[in-house]
Amino acid sequence: DKIQEERLKYLTDEKGIKAVTVLFSDLEGRLHMLDYDKKFLIKSYDNLTFDGSSIRGFTAQRESDLRLGIDWSAFYWAPSDVFGTGKVLVFGEVIDKQGTPYSGDMRGVLKAYANELYAKEGYTLNAANEIEGFLFAGMDAERRFPETGRFDYVNTGGYYHSLPGDPLRSFIDTAAEVQRAMGFENEKDHPEVAPSQFEINYSYGEVVAAADQIQIYKLICRQVATRMGMTASFLPKPVVGVNGSGMHTNISITKGGKNLFWDPAGEEKLAAFGWDFVDRILTHGNDICLLLNSSVNAYRRLDPHFEAPNQIKASAVDRGSMVRIPIGNEKSSRVEVRSVAPDANPYLVLYSLFKSGLDGETAKIANLRQAERYLPDNIYTALENFRNSTWTTKLLGEDVKARFGDLKQASADRCPRLLGSFVKAPEVQFH
Ligand code: GLU
Ligand code: MG
Ligand code: MG
Repeated sequence: DKIQEERLKYLTDEKGIKAVTVLFSDLEGRLHMLDYDKKFLIKSYDNLTFDGSSIRGFTAQRESDLRLGIDWSAFYWAPSDVFGTGKVLVFGEVIDKQGTPYSGDMRGVLKAYANELYAKEGYTLNAANEIEGFLFAGMDAERRFPETGRFDYVNTGGYYHSLPGDPLRSFIDTAAEVQRAMGFENEKDHPEVAPSQFEINYSYGEVVAAADQIQIYKLICRQVATRMGMTASFLPKPVVGVNGSGMHTNISITKGGKNLFWDPAGEEKLAAFGWDFVDRILTHGNDICLLLNSSVNAYRRLDPHFEAPNQIKASAVDRGSMVRIPIGNEKSSRVEVRSVAPDANPYLVLYSLFKSGLDGETAKIANLRQAERYLPDNIYTALENFRNSTWTTKLLGEDVKARFGDLKQASADRCPRLLGSFVKAPEVQFH
């Protein structure tokens, strides 16, 4: 097609580009990268294969050989001081032997769902994520953690503390600059409430691009931090006693350019269409919790004393509730899901939120939006809810559901052995 043609021409013409990094994510959301020589890729882009058996969550496939397609619309120029000389990034699509999208590739699943809704209803699904993270001293902070049991801050400032000589500020400035260079439309950035914590916000986008941007945001932050001799961590609750890091997910749906969530006459100016969406999300709050909070550590974050939600309810103001309706206008009207951790698989998060909100059920619970219902406070309960739910089977299919459950069971069971104290030590994940 046209985009493919354009991008291939760009690759051919740009003499400075030597290699193309193809990105895809495993079932848990870990980003994988394959670097192809540019000339090879131009010749062979429609015949790329890789061994899926070493990718977590992809292994149930009887034959391990998978194909890698290129999504030419998801193409990013990569600044050389951060990514090395002469590279561009492009997202790949995992395809199985039969030539159909591979069921374990949640990016493909999300894309198919978004395309289907556009074709059937004319809906465009939009998301904006507020991704918080910590900056820690030392390049190996996350790896060192299991031995030392602590992370070292790079500053002791707080919310909006923004002095130019401060390492956190320099990090935020550099990361934001790289984002802009890669086509993000940045909006605001600031040190967050906890010491050494940051948040860099950018504009919402169409759902697949928004999920890709989450992966790139984290990659940029890790790269920039490493270049500065530090570690960017997206662990939800790295430090006991201070705020954790969330990935609030703002959702809206447009049709023909019109925001379907907006109604100036609606409660909180949210249209009935938006409230129905919220009700279904609340109904499935327990079913999908494991998909939004998929690490042992994520459950330590869900504490209203630290601005993180623990209740399955909707509110305009209460930051302890799973869903918040921020003040908005015709353009920005949206629903904010707060119970999402930054180390979750972004494709899986967005797919489960949109699909639950649009195709889910509405529970016959009195006063559903304000009822006293709580999110699980540990991964084992979340796992049980996930496995017992008929909704998650509809969402993922038996096979992917079982594989995801097994992976999470394994990481939960591994945690106390690896890290000693189950109560105090967080599970460390590297993605
Ligand atoms: N850090 C909080 C959380 O874990 C969110 C703070 C905020 O509202 O920005 O979700
Ligand atoms: Mg924040
Ligand atoms: Mg927020």
